[in-house]
Amino acid sequence: MSERRASCKPDFPILIADDNDLQRNVLEYVLRKEGHEVAVARDGRQAIELFTSGYFPIVITDWMMPHMTGLELCRAIRESHQDQFTYVILHSSRDGRDDVQTAMQAGIDEYLIKPVAPEKLSLRLATAHRVLKLEQALKRKLEEARQLATTDSLTRLYNRVFLDERLPLEVKRAIRYDRPLSIIFSDIDHFKTINDSYGHQAGDEVLKNFARRMKENVRDEVDWLARYGGEEFVLILPETDIDGAMIVANRLQRVVAGTPISVDNREIGVTASFGAASFSPRSDIDAATMAMELLGRADRCLYAAKEGGRNRCEGERLN
Ligand SMILES: [Mg+2]
Repeated sequence: MSERRASCKPDFPILIADDNDLQRNVLEYVLRKEGHEVAVARDGRQAIELFTSGYFPIVITDWMMPHMTGLELCRAIRESHQDQFTYVILHSSRDGRDDVQTAMQAGIDEYLIKPVAPEKLSLRLATAHRVLKLEQALKRKLEEARQLATTDSLTRLYNRVFLDERLPLEVKRAIRYDRPLSIIFSDIDHFKTINDSYGHQAGDEVLKNFARRMKENVRDEVDWLARYGGEEFVLILPETDIDGAMIVANRLQRVVAGTPISVDNREIGVTASFGAASFSPRSDIDAATMAMELLGRADRCLYAAKEGGRNRCEGERLN
C-alpha cells in the first residue's frame, strides 16, 4: 500500500500558509493523511522564509494574513526566479468576482473558497501534480538534448561545441582564483595510414580506445577531454602549470605508444603527438581571447612535436 502511494505521489512537498490555527491544522491533517509531505507557516513572511530555504513546488495559502498577504506571498514566489515552477493555490473565504480576478492577476494558479471539501482539494492537487510532472519531463528532455548536443557520439567525450563554450569559462575561473591552467592538444600519428590499412571501422575503434586511455590517465572530475575533430583531442587541466602539463603529456605519450590497440584480433601499433600550453592568470586578460590564445599555442606546440619526429611532446608557457 505504501509502495503504491509512493509511486502515484511524486515528491512534491506542500507548503501551507494560514494564520488561522484551526483551518491550518485541518488542512495539514487532511494532506498528511493523504500521504503528502507538508510544512506549515503562520503568516506570509514565515512562508516566504520557508519557501526560499526549502523545496516546495506546491504552496497553499490563505489570503488575509498578518505581515504579508497571500497575494504578496504569491508575487514574492513568482519574483524569486526559482529554477522550477511553483503551483500556488489560494485558499480563501473571499468569494467576490473581483477577488478571483485580483488573485489570478497576482499569479495564483488555483482559487479555492473556504471551506473546501477534501475530495475537491485532492482533485486540484492532482492537477498540480500533472503540471509539475510535465515540467520535470520537459527538463529531463532538455538535459538529454543538451548532453547529445555537447557529446561526441563516437568517443563519448565532449565535442567541439562544448569545448568552445566551456574553455573561456575555465579561463575565467583560473583568472578569478589566480590559478594556472593548461591545455594539451593531441593528435594520433599517421591516422590516415591506419584507416587506409585496416579500414574505417578499425579506425573508429582506435579513436574510441585512444579516448578511453586518455580518460583513464587524467584526474577524474577535474580534467576534461574533448574531441576537437578527426583524430585531434584537447585535454583541459585546471590548476596545472606547464611542468605539470608536460608530466601528463609525457605519461599519455608513453601509455599510448606502450601498448598496441587490439582490433578484431589484430594488434595496431599507435602513437600520438602532444602539444601543451599553459598560462598564469593576469586580471587584464580577456577570457575568450586567452582561450583562443591557449588553443593556438598548444596547436603550434603539437605541430612542433610532429615536425620533431612525432610520438613526442612539446610545451610552452604563455606570458
Ligand atoms: Mg487569514
